[in-house]
Amino acid sequence: MIEKILIANRGEIALRILRACRELGIKTVAVHSEADRTLKHVRLADESVCIGPARSTESYLNIPAVISAAEVTDAQAIHPGYGFLSENADFAERVMESGFIFIGPRPETIRMMGDKISAIEAMKKAGVPTVPGSDGPVGEDDAETLRVASKIGYPIIIKAAGGGGGRGMRVVHTEAALLNSISLTRTEAGTAFGNSTVYMEKYLENPRHIEIQVLSDEHGNAIYLGERDCSMQRRHQKVIEEAPGPGITQEMRDRIGSRCAQACVDIGYRGAGTFEFLYQDGEFYFIEMNTRVQVEHPVTELITGMDIVREQIMIASGEPLSVKQSDIVLRGHAIECRINAEDPATFMPCPGTITAYHTPGGPGIRVDSHIYTGYTVPPYYDSMIGKLIAWGSDRPTALARMRNALAELVIDGIKTNTPLHMELLQDAAFIAGGTNIHYLEKKLAAKKELDKK
Ligand code: ADP
Repeated sequence: MIEKILIANRGEIALRILRACRELGIKTVAVHSEADRTLKHVRLADESVCIGPARSTESYLNIPAVISAAEVTDAQAIHPGYGFLSENADFAERVMESGFIFIGPRPETIRMMGDKISAIEAMKKAGVPTVPGSDGPVGEDDAETLRVASKIGYPIIIKAAGGGGGRGMRVVHTEAALLNSISLTRTEAGTAFGNSTVYMEKYLENPRHIEIQVLSDEHGNAIYLGERDCSMQRRHQKVIEEAPGPGITQEMRDRIGSRCAQACVDIGYRGAGTFEFLYQDGEFYFIEMNTRVQVEHPVTELITGMDIVREQIMIASGEPLSVKQSDIVLRGHAIECRINAEDPATFMPCPGTITAYHTPGGPGIRVDSHIYTGYTVPPYYDSMIGKLIAWGSDRPTALARMRNALAELVIDGIKTNTPLHMELLQDAAFIAGGTNIHYLEKKLAAKKELDKK
């Protein structure tokens, strides 16, 4: 069993990992930037190491600094959380070469899934349904590109093979715009991801985003923990997530879930992972796999009773999964609101000092956040400052509890997106369930039009 873990992250997920370690009696090392000395998990960790200046390229993304911190503190394993180095295959490799356990999949797996083209190829081989597309990179032969595109049919989405975080994508509606859009996306992708390879996919007009959570150990066992619906998005970034997905039947869940679990066995997957799908007209289309714990993992934990971070640690220790597929029974419904330090109208980040903080409570309420009264949200990192999660025996109960929780939540001194969540929790279409990935953008655009009048 692992005795000491270095947490290579910050904010709420660093605190989440620290809590899992403490439960398991594992010692913790927090690493932090100069701007993050006052983070809650840094104060709670057994040891802490400052690994560099505020800028993440010089601290949280600084591989030698993270590895040196593990060396000086004698940590055995490194948990990367999400974002930062969590899906960096070179980092995972360096961690292992330096004699530490990387809490995540093998570097080869991360590399394969990090390139969306090779990920799609692997999934096709494993029998997972994918979006009709170019089946490989767009080449230099323009005539061939146009031919492939017309076969896929417009609209088409051009995507960067190395893209992530909702960036590196462009929708094309007509043949006339295709080649120019490809070259623009290539240039952007080269700058943003250091890889200018792009591919084409059919652009689905009204899909939902449904993803399957999996756990897979070193002993050939893989299970799925049901799905999450993350369709409420702005700029391809998730705002609200829920589990299970409204309208997804047990039969559909088992069909797609067992495919994902089998794919894990086929590729020798290790750890927690998520298969992301677009779902339209009753069909699932694989878009990518995330080889790490996700922001929205708590909704799955609340309906399954599983602790995903704990399972990640156990798998990394070489233990077999603690449960079998037949042990996984979904109970009730859970919803998560991402709380961001941002202006609810303009979405501009809003860092600053929190002058008062009161957390909601009551049955079924979970708050995953590192903030406290007097904490200053630094301007250098992602604006998410916490997650509010509500569980109920059914969806209406979970929604009612979330409304109460949002009304009770007090975060003074900075602006947050709480008003937007309150509005969405009153939205008739969202209450009905099953809104698609364009719903929020359309709603916001309509509101803007109304404000102009
Ligand atoms: P990232 O790695 O940047 O998150 P994804 O491939 O997961 O990129 O796509 C992010 C989001 O972009 C999806 O949730 C969906 O909203 C939209 N998207 C991606 N591919 C398509 C597609 N083929 N058709 C329509 N929307 C898409």
